[in-house]
Amino acid sequence: MLDKSITDFLKDTIIPPVCCVCGRISPDYLCSRCASEILPLSNAGCCKYCGRPFTDTGHDLKGTGETCSFCKAEEYNFTAHRSFTLYRGNMKKIIVKFKYGKIYNLKNILAGFLHSVYRDFFSMEDIDYVDTVPGEHTAVLTEYFAMKYRIPFIQNILRIKKTERQGKLGMDERKVNILNCFKLRDCLAYRNKNILLIDDVWTTGSTLKEISRIINRAGSKKIFLLTLARGA
Ligand SMILES: [Zn+2]
Ligand SMILES: [Zn+2]
Repeated sequence: MLDKSITDFLKDTIIPPVCCVCGRISPDYLCSRCASEILPLSNAGCCKYCGRPFTDTGHDLKGTGETCSFCKAEEYNFTAHRSFTLYRGNMKKIIVKFKYGKIYNLKNILAGFLHSVYRDFFSMEDIDYVDTVPGEHTAVLTEYFAMKYRIPFIQNILRIKKTERQGKLGMDERKVNILNCFKLRDCLAYRNKNILLIDDVWTTGSTLKEISRIINRAGSKKIFLLTLARGA
């Protein structure tokens, strides 16, 4: 059998990659033109917990260290959440291709987006494990991210109850819908540990908040949440 890097090289030489957004031949699966449309969220002027940009919610731009009205109104179990960008435009197209089209070649690009947030916000923390919201595409992405950036990966979260698709539900319904849907495979593994939990999209945050509740109950130290994009 040929070495994987050689087969990849041959494949790329015979069939050069095309940009997954515009379809033009490109050295990567995302061309520089389509990549330039994806603007990273800034840490300036967002909620210090959930990362909500104040400018998008009608607030005036504020400095860091503020809490949004959503986080003020409820208890949360995580230390901080940050997304790379907003769930729209080219980022939405890429995530849809990755998740529903199962084009897992895009994992390198997506892991790069995750890493830029990780580098800016979480790399100074002593992360013990990276874990993921259960799902085939999230597992592919998180495992690759963890391997590439050398953070221990454990898949310690199990989905134990099927849920109605969250997309159709409002914020409060989502919270009830997701309650008690997950459990930990090893309930001791997170004790006194700092966990980085990865998902693709933050919509209302109900899934990540529920998993944080369970991780926190298992005696973790800090829980950091990292997503590619936020819808709200
Ligand atoms: Zn393109
Ligand atoms: Zn908030």
